[in-house]
Amino acid sequence: MEQDVQIKPQIDWHQISTVLLDLDGTLLDRHFDDYFWHCFVPENYALIHNLEIDEARRRLIAKFDERQGTLAWADLDHWSQVLEMDIPELKRQVDALIDIHPHVVEFLMFCRRKGKRVYLVTNAHHKTLAIKLKKAALTDYWEQVVCAEEIGLAKEEAEFWPRLERYLSYDKDRTMLVDDTERVLDAACAHGLGQLVHVARPSSRAAQRFSTQYPSIVYFSELMPPY
Ligand SMILES: [Mg+2]
Repeated sequence: MEQDVQIKPQIDWHQISTVLLDLDGTLLDRHFDDYFWHCFVPENYALIHNLEIDEARRRLIAKFDERQGTLAWADLDHWSQVLEMDIPELKRQVDALIDIHPHVVEFLMFCRRKGKRVYLVTNAHHKTLAIKLKKAALTDYWEQVVCAEEIGLAKEEAEFWPRLERYLSYDKDRTMLVDDTERVLDAACAHGLGQLVHVARPSSRAAQRFSTQYPSIVYFSELMPPY
């Protein structure tokens, strides 16, 4: 359930020691992923299978939806095999669309100045991550990247969060998570993570949609105090 009214975040930065950040839709513009999976892959699939693009898109979206919220959904090797296409190579062909959201670098610098421990925590497959981080120069700003495949579960799954806590040894009361997927925030909330923030505009080409349950931001500038 999402609506037009924004619950504004009120962050007491003295209470936060660790910041967990999602990648796609949160730090990076999801337009790349939307274009890739909803346009570029269907166009290529239609050519190979001699289909109309709309029919190719319909078939593919049905396949993607079956895997939503699981590790297989983000697994490029899985899709290369199922679709019989070189998915990493197709991603590289359109990597010019990979872009960082406004105010992200400022926010990462802010966290570093404040001495926060920052981790990138993503469902993205290691091959996707290599392509994206090559284009988006962000790697100097965090302690570590945690790919969901290392934990063995997707971030939407409840058991992901206790496993991540053991893996990183953070104090969950003093930890903030910023993510554009409400199901991920729900799982982290059930685990008792201290501060949850929803990203209301994951794609620069789509309308903003605020969460009804969690504080939302459109831009990371909203998390930085004006001092
Ligand atoms: Mg995301």
